[in-house]
Amino acid sequence: TKFEALGLQKSLLDAVADLGFETPSEVQEKAIPILLESETDLVALAQTGTGKTAAFGFPLIQKIDSNSRTTQGLILSPTRELCLQITKEMQAYSKYERNINVVAIYGGASITDQARQIKRGAQIIVATPGRMKDMISRRLVDISKIDYCILDEADEMLNMGFMEDIKDILSGTPSDKSTWLFSATMPKEVAVIAKKFMHSPQEITV
Ligand code: AMP
Repeated sequence: TKFEALGLQKSLLDAVADLGFETPSEVQEKAIPILLESETDLVALAQTGTGKTAAFGFPLIQKIDSNSRTTQGLILSPTRELCLQITKEMQAYSKYERNINVVAIYGGASITDQARQIKRGAQIIVATPGRMKDMISRRLVDISKIDYCILDEADEMLNMGFMEDIKDILSGTPSDKSTWLFSATMPKEVAVIAKKFMHSPQEITV
């Protein structure tokens, strides 16, 4: 299979070519068509290094309305390093979509600077749960209108004790959004989140 067969728009195929990706990885081949074709919830069991960032990143970028400045997609990830890495990848994937802003929100850095970036209009936010919750409670960010929420490395986030933060964050999002959960394993805590916040998710395993 080639990237062209997955349903991606030209701006993304051009980015794929620049990145030197030749063929989709297994998780990309399985997830991208599902996410592009339907407004479905998805549980994907995939380890890091399998190309999962692009598996959710390409469909998210294609589905965002770049003419609107409203925050439409939220990606939650366990650590600052992963948050920055995902942000960098999302910026590379969306390089030919000039109006899409991807902003990173994480602890240990200036909240004022991050709030300023959000204010300029961030259609996609990549965040760690603690700082995200902090910024929501200070009303520095508005996720009440998001269409897509991605939980990346869900098992790691819950291992690190973010269960309550994640519940609080998801409680402030629309119930009709789509949720895409990526996890290497499926411990009880991940199943709890899936059951509480997701609607008959499709499942893929790589
Ligand atoms: P991830 O699992 O998302 O952390 O991705 C692991 C690495 O593989 C990243 O450096 C990606 O840029 C790279 N990558 C993702 N998809 C592909 C692909 N289809 N072909 C080649 N490299 C890829």
